[in-house]
Parts: sequence; structure tokens; C-alpha cells
Amino acid sequence: MAAGQFKGGIAGARLAPAQYAENFSDLHPPLDHHEALVEADRCYFCYDAPCMNACPTSIDIPLFIRQIATGNPIGSAKTIFDQNILGGMCARVCPTETLCEEACVRETAEGKPVQIGRLQRFATDTAMRQGKQFYQRAQPTGRKIAVVGAGPAGLAAAHRLTRYGHDVTIFEARPKAGGLNEYGIAAYKSTDDFAHAEVDYVTAIGGIAIEYGRALGRDVHLSDLAAMYDAVFLGMGLAGVNALNAEGEEAAGVDNAVDFIAVLRQADDLAELPVGRRVVVIGGGMTAIDAAVQSKLLGAEEVTICYRRGKEHMNASEFEQELAAAKGVTIRHWLQPKRVVVQFGKVAGIELEYTAMQDGRLAGTGETLTLAADQVFKAIGQSFVPTALNGSTPAIALEKGRIKVDAEGRTSLPKVWAGGDCVVDAREDLTVAAVAAGRDAAESMHRALMSREA
Ligand SMILES: Cc1cc2nc3c(=O)[nH]c(=O)nc-3n(C[C@H](O)[C@H](O)[C@H](O)COP(=O)(O)OP(=O)(O)OC[C@H]3O[C@@H](n4cnc5c(N)ncnc54)[C@H](O)[C@@H]3O)c2cc1C
Ligand code: SF4
Repeated sequence: MAAGQFKGGIAGARLAPAQYAENFSDLHPPLDHHEALVEADRCYFCYDAPCMNACPTSIDIPLFIRQIATGNPIGSAKTIFDQNILGGMCARVCPTETLCEEACVRETAEGKPVQIGRLQRFATDTAMRQGKQFYQRAQPTGRKIAVVGAGPAGLAAAHRLTRYGHDVTIFEARPKAGGLNEYGIAAYKSTDDFAHAEVDYVTAIGGIAIEYGRALGRDVHLSDLAAMYDAVFLGMGLAGVNALNAEGEEAAGVDNAVDFIAVLRQADDLAELPVGRRVVVIGGGMTAIDAAVQSKLLGAEEVTICYRRGKEHMNASEFEQELAAAKGVTIRHWLQPKRVVVQFGKVAGIELEYTAMQDGRLAGTGETLTLAADQVFKAIGQSFVPTALNGSTPAIALEKGRIKVDAEGRTSLPKVWAGGDCVVDAREDLTVAAVAAGRDAAESMHRALMSREA
């Protein structure tokens, strides 16, 4: 099912105007200069740096922290951007508690890791605030590359390709660039229109043209791009959402969590965004947590996440689960949706069935429970929409419903690479993983173009 329009349908601001700004302020406020120096001083500059191995973009973490400690935040930002040109956003949204900070030896020794994410933000914010650009385009190669999707994967690929002197055109279906950085990430992680500022920062290198409102499969087709360009990178993410397959899910008040979040992220006035009094979110990942927490911050009275397995199976990290609990969200486990209770065409509740593991498989127990709700969000996963690739001959190979690539990001089609969420990959669907995939595919494309393989 393709993601669609947020139906909403619930009126009224629930909070005093000033409360919205307070509720949606920065989740991890920036470190000031003194705090950054003190925090950087906590790093042991480990020779084997386990934190660095845990970073999908392999940023040289001890080096950038040492640069901060020695009063060189601009050099530190360069160390970060060399590996991850979206290092500013990753500093805000990475689940560091399951990546670099989980691996930090100070986490292992004392349960208090060096705050790598906040230090990364300190350095990248300093450079971006000063408009410091570190990269110039190489001499034009005359090669033209099409990138589909201006999300983290597409932007990282475009930046790396243009550094090598290739001309890049990005085809982006939406009116703005940034992908889920602009339309998906929770508002309290990316404040002050940072996603937009970062797109400007990345594209300032030049040689990247973005064609907005141009969707692959609708306005342009893969076979045309492959014919017109020297190479193509597909970074179109996951445009579909999974259905509950529960009776009544089309009722007013039942929406995709990603649509709700996209509307929230674009809202000029949060007080005008409809939110229920009793909200139920179905799912166990980051999207479920984000929809639930933001509903609560918008003033919903009761917010409950229902997940069909146990706490330990949730995709949302321990930190995210604790954040939800701290904001007053109730998380209930071992419950799966059965039927949306509809009254006068609108959701009035949701009937859920208890679940349990039986013979190694998840099964309904037959026992049910009904929760009253005037808004239900579906957050049970996004899916790749293969219709965007219709008409490509031969057809591109898919695996597990996503694009199949090799270790360099090459698809089954010559001249076509792919990366980020739209690709079947062992790595999680994370911003930093998409950046790494786009960057690495760009390196592979450059090698192929220069050796005239493509
Ligand atoms: C609600 C939510 C919250 C998240 N929070 C976090 C978080 O806190 N931390 C984290 O690390 N990760 C988070 N993620 C995951 C992260 O956002 C993604 O892994 C990342 O954005 C993937 O990047 P991408 O470039 O592959 O895809 P996307 O960011 O989805 O970008 C794809 C781009 O392609 C465009 N596009 C799609 N179809 C077409 C087409 N046919 N033609 C042209 N353009 C097209 C889209 O409009 C979009 O701009 C979250 C995801 C969601 C859904
Ligand atoms: S593991 Fe921790 S202490 Fe060691 S280099 Fe990385 S951040 Fe510094």
C-alpha cells in the first residue's frame, strides 16, 4: 500500500500556544564550547577505537574528538564530513546508544559513554554556522549521472560524485529534498529547519541539480535514465506502508504514522494539527515511538503503543522506549490488532488479541481486549513500492521485496546502482546506513566510470 494523505479529522488545539514550542524543543540540546571541551576530555583516544568500528560511516571518532579537545572544531568537522557529509543530521538522529556510544569503552567500564553524538554535533554545527565548505569539485569529467531520490542515500551519493567532477541530476518526487530527514524524523530531533539547511550545505558544492516533483515510474522511467545518463543511482527509500489487515482500518481517525509525522514536520502551526484524546499506535519500531511521543507532545491525553511481541523484540531501542515512557506513553506488549471499532464512520476503539509464542511461532490466544481510541496510527513497517521501476527492461532483480545489490551497490542492471532503505541489506534502516550506502555506491560508480566499465 502506498503511503497517502493524513486523514486526521479531529479538531482543536489541546495545549496553550507556548507549550508547543517547549514540548518540541531540541531533544539533545547542543553542547556549549566549555561543555564540549570537558566532554572531549573524557575520551581515552583508544588505539583500536571500538566506537569507530560501530559507526556505519567509519568516522575517525578519536581523531575528531581530539581535534575538539585541542581547540580545532573546524578540523574536527572536516574529519566527520570526510566520511559522512550528513554528519550534522546523523549527530542528531543516530541511535548512538546502539552504535558508537554502546561500543565506547567508557560505556563498558562505567555505563557512561563519551557523548560522541553531541560532540559530533558541536563540531559540525560550528562549521556549518560559519559556512565553512571543505570540498571543491574536481575538473569536470563530462560524465552525467542521474540520482533518484534526494534522501540521505541520494544526497550522499550526489555529493561524492560531484566531488569527483561528475554532473548530477537528482529526480525527487516530493516538493522538498532531504527524504525522511525532512518528512520523517521526529520534530524534536531536527529543530530549526535543520534538514533544509543541511541540503543547502551539501548542494553548495555545485554540480547538483534537483528536479522536484519528478517521480520515477510516473514522470521519468528507468530505461530512459539509463539511456540518457552515464550511470544511475536509485535511492528512493520505502514509499509504501504495511496494512494492519484488520476490519475497519479505512475509518476516519485511522492513519499511517508516517503520514501523520510528515504533516507534523511540515506544519506551520502545531496547534492546528489534529490529534486525538486517546491515541493507540500499533507497532514496535522507531516510527511507532515517534508517532506516540509526538501525539503526547501535541496534547493527547492517553497514548498507548501496542506491540505484538515482547519488550526485548521491539525494534525501537531501549533509549527510545524509555523516552516514550518518560513522556507518558504506555507500551503494551503481546497484543495484535483484530478489528477497528467504528462508530458513525469514525474510529471509536480497537479490538486487540493477546498473543503468545506457540511451538516457536507467534500466535493469537483467542483472548481479546478493546481499547477506546479516537485516533489509531499504523506503524507496522514501510515497504518498497516496485511500481516505480515498471517498464525497465530487463526488469531489475529484487530480493525480499527490495532492490538486490552486490557489495558495491550494483543492481542487476548495467549502469544502475542503488542504496539506502530501498535496498535489501543486512544493515538496519537508519539515516547513517543510508549515507554510507550512497557514499560507497558513488565510489563504485566513479571507479566504473573512470575505467569505462559503465
Ligand atoms: C518516522 C521515521 C522516523 C525515523 N527516525 C529515524 C531516526 O531517528 N534515526 C535514524 O537513524 N533513522 C530514522 N529513520 C530511518 C531513516 O529515516 C531512513 O533509514 C533514511 O531516511 C533512509 O534514507 P533513504 O535516502 O534511503 O530514503 P528516504 O529518506 O526515504 O529518501 C528517499 C527519497 O526518495 C524520494 N522518492 C521516493 N520514491 C521516488 C520516486 N519514485 N521517484 C523519485 N523520488 C522518489 C522520496 O520522496 C525521498 O525524498 C526513521 C524513519 C521513519 C519512517
Ligand atoms: S571508545 Fe570511547 S573512549 Fe575510546 S576512542 Fe571511542 S569515544 Fe573515545
